[in-house]
Amino acid sequence: MTEKLYQMPHTLNPILSVVVPLYNEAAGLNVFHKSLLTVITKTVGDNYEIVYCDDGSTDDTNKIVRAIAKSSPRVELISFSRNFGKESALAAGIAEANGQAILMIDGDGQHPVSLIPEFLSAWRSGSQVVVGVRTNNLNEGWFKRVGSKNFYRLFNRLSQQDLVPGSSDFRLIDREVQKAFLELHESDRMTRALIDWLGFERNFIEYQANARMHGIAGYNRRKLIQLATNSFVSLTSVPLYLFGYLGILITGVSLVSGLTIFVEQLLLNDPLGWKFTGTAMLSILLLFLVGVVLLSQGVLALYISHIHSQSRGRPLYVIDDKKSLRSRSE
Ligand code: UDP
Ligand code: MG
Repeated sequence: MTEKLYQMPHTLNPILSVVVPLYNEAAGLNVFHKSLLTVITKTVGDNYEIVYCDDGSTDDTNKIVRAIAKSSPRVELISFSRNFGKESALAAGIAEANGQAILMIDGDGQHPVSLIPEFLSAWRSGSQVVVGVRTNNLNEGWFKRVGSKNFYRLFNRLSQQDLVPGSSDFRLIDREVQKAFLELHESDRMTRALIDWLGFERNFIEYQANARMHGIAGYNRRKLIQLATNSFVSLTSVPLYLFGYLGILITGVSLVSGLTIFVEQLLLNDPLGWKFTGTAMLSILLLFLVGVVLLSQGVLALYISHIHSQSRGRPLYVIDDKKSLRSRSE
């Protein structure tokens, strides 16, 4: 059952919905909420809602949002039964949002709230997707910097899509885009790539990311590598083809060189003086082929595991109704 702590006092479709994924952000949450509130009330008055998605936090995040909701009637809270990851938290928030424009923003203070008016005015002048592009990497370690640069380069080369380097989850989508987004049910997902895939009228706003207010980034190296791999596997099948081509090439080359050596050594008795031993030739060839087979098996495994998680048809997240605050009960 959804606890009804408040009644939505305004129209069901406010101008702006703000979706904020939260994972253990208790330390900075009050400050973040205040700064967010100041900016949006200045921009749209009372015509907003804030949807906080507590992604299974183990600290006081849930409690703090509840306290905030007591004094701010336009705050909703969706609470997951465990940590499902930011992509799922965003999906839940977007599904729940009723606004005409829906803005996604991190709850750790890294996305500057002061730019929200710019996002809205870009939307008002016709953009259906407004993307925040981060221009600095000051607070990132070398791993994230180098990793993300190469990820974009490789991704854009291999897929038919163009991800703009630095384009982030700090973005605004129109209600129409929200509707289309909710039709996408794939499980290993990267929200920004999916929104880019949808197309629509796009606009870009550059921003400098702040340092995290408190705590540590929930996305460690392992999670980032997983996210990058997932988006490759879910959005492009080029690696599969690549190994197909490589297979053709290697088979062709080994066939030709095998035949050449066979003719030169065995039929013509080594007129060029190569003196290959049969064992050396065979073992090099075998080693090479085994390597290729293993590599292609690895790629197949990636795809099969993708199909596997897709075919399980699990929901993207599980909401804990007891811990959530929502304006409508379904
Ligand atoms: N987050 C989340 N679930 C997670 C990890 C992070 O909802 O499992 C939230 C987090 O609270 C923050 C946003 O997603 O609001 C971005 O997370 P983080 O700062 O860890 O990532 P980064 O800034 O490195 O992209
Ligand atoms: Mg962050």
